[in-house]
Amino acid sequence: MKKLNGNYLKLAIQKDGRLTDETLAFLRSSGLVFESYQKRLFSRCLNFPLEILFLRDDDIPNYVSAGIVDLGIIGQNLLYELRPKVKKLLNLRFGFCSLIVAVPKESNFTNIKELKNQKIATAYPNSAGRFFSRQDVPVDLVQIKGSVEVAPSLGVAQVIVDLVSTGSTLILNDLKIIRKIYDSEAVLITNDKSLISQKEQSNIKKLLTRFKGVLSARNYKYILMNAPEKILPRLKKIIPGLKSSTISSLAKEGWVSVQSVVKEDIFWETMERLKKVGASEIMVLPIEKIII
Ligand code: ATP
Ligand code: ZN
Repeated sequence: MKKLNGNYLKLAIQKDGRLTDETLAFLRSSGLVFESYQKRLFSRCLNFPLEILFLRDDDIPNYVSAGIVDLGIIGQNLLYELRPKVKKLLNLRFGFCSLIVAVPKESNFTNIKELKNQKIATAYPNSAGRFFSRQDVPVDLVQIKGSVEVAPSLGVAQVIVDLVSTGSTLILNDLKIIRKIYDSEAVLITNDKSLISQKEQSNIKKLLTRFKGVLSARNYKYILMNAPEKILPRLKKIIPGLKSSTISSLAKEGWVSVQSVVKEDIFWETMERLKKVGASEIMVLPIEKIII
């Protein structure tokens, strides 16, 4: 049996679920090379002292807080729900979802206050409980592990508190949202012990630099265009980020080539405006990594 290597940093990720694919893609885009047979318990990186453990997401906070693993990637919703003794290092900008209160489409409930003494089915009893007590609305929580959205059809409860992303599951089950409790996304967590230990700390730092490089690159675009020199002030008005751009002359008299990294999202509308004032051959390219 292959054993974990004590010298490697350990990162726990979800074995098989909604976060798995995007987590694997994120790790790979950070340049980590590893095989991911999810039937295995763990996978060792070939180019970084890191072992990736595949676990049930609900178990990850405990593994991290107990120091069995150094790092974990989970939904922020689990932090709100379980309040484990872990430290959040980074928001990872995927796995977006919200915890919401929903009722059957045809129901007359429109307001939280009207839910007094109602049965509420949820897999998030702590988050739901705290929310309703903050609202000063006593309710009867029924804890369900999965498929909370079918609870109203089964007559378990009229009201549910559940995670949604696109909302299509709710529509499919004839439910409507009456309130959002919180938003969530995937986060990277660690524990004090791993942060204090020197070797791990420097490896955690290296890994964080890589992760941040990928995340900031996603907020930037590389833009290239040709334009008559005299319209440069107008271009800068359209894209303020162009102020610190590289401008080189073209063979064509009075024309320049402009290159820049811009923070703003370059939408079609912006491109059309650039074109309208006289820019041509506009190219917007994604950036893979930015190390600041
Ligand atoms: P496991 O078998 O690992 O315990 P699970 O069924 O508890 O899996 P999933 O449904 O795979 O968990 O959800 C994992 C995480 O994905 C959630 O904790 C949440 O952060 C995120 N997520 C994103 N979108 C949704 C969604 N629409 N519904 C539920 N979770 C979502
Ligand atoms: Zn789970």
